[in-house]
Amino acid sequence: MSASGGRDGTFEETSDVLIARLLADSATLAEKLDAARDELDARGWPVAMAEPVTSGEAAIELQLPDGDPVGVREILGRHFAPCDLLVADREIVVPQLFVSDMDSTMIGQECIDELADYAGIKPQIAAITERAMLGELDFPSALRERVALLEGLDESAIAQCLSERIRPMPGAKTLVATLKSRGCHTVLVTGGFHAFADPVAEELGFDRVVGNRLAVAADKLTGGLDGPISDSTTKRQALLEEAARLGAETVTLAMGDGANDIPMLQAATFGIAYHAKPKARDAADGWIERGDLTAVLELLGIAKQDWVRG
Ligand SMILES: [Mg+2]
Repeated sequence: MSASGGRDGTFEETSDVLIARLLADSATLAEKLDAARDELDARGWPVAMAEPVTSGEAAIELQLPDGDPVGVREILGRHFAPCDLLVADREIVVPQLFVSDMDSTMIGQECIDELADYAGIKPQIAAITERAMLGELDFPSALRERVALLEGLDESAIAQCLSERIRPMPGAKTLVATLKSRGCHTVLVTGGFHAFADPVAEELGFDRVVGNRLAVAADKLTGGLDGPISDSTTKRQALLEEAARLGAETVTLAMGDGANDIPMLQAATFGIAYHAKPKARDAADGWIERGDLTAVLELLGIAKQDWVRG
């Protein structure tokens, strides 16, 4: 979502209503809310309403007749930390399209780092992955460099790695199953590999996978990729293409944790950063820093009794 921008100091001309939903420690919620309201007031962004999103649930919704999303996120994030937060310049509804990153978002691992362990080179690969996710390296060249280091590894290491190392992120199955029960189309988009993403998508219930293909010859990784590279542009493109296919008014949710998720987080109606690197978090409309993936359901206003346990 783009920030409204162009503030000229007049209330009337910057009248986008902001909706902020958050989940935080309920013990001190009232005091934190008072302090946050005071600071928002002082910035000229008074809170018009604050109430629970659904009865009996922990999420609260604030409505602000005026405000800059970046500033509002910063203030709420500081007062309620740690919190799960979504700030939108429109009504928050269940999306028709959900597009998510895989590594460190839908699963708890970085697949290429774990696979590298089977080649005895995890530290070297993981160091490159970390820098790429922080946005310090160009993603496509960092990917090619790491894949090249895997040359000669037995293809069977992938299946072994999947069964021994790769685990869903807590709440992943429930998030996907519940969104699908509401008619949401779900796409797993990864800068990683189909060899991992296809079985992960099947386990979690995603409708489609977009990713890279590791080239294999004589049962060994060649150190190259088959086909075009799946990077940040691909992720954003997948979101836009699926949204267009579903119709002009499609409400979209994107989730990710790394720098290569930023374009898709920005292109989505609601972009949520999941226990994310700072650059991804700054680019998103909100973040999960406290709960598991089911926190997203609470932010979307889906009551717990309506969750589909995966
Ligand atoms: Mg990731």
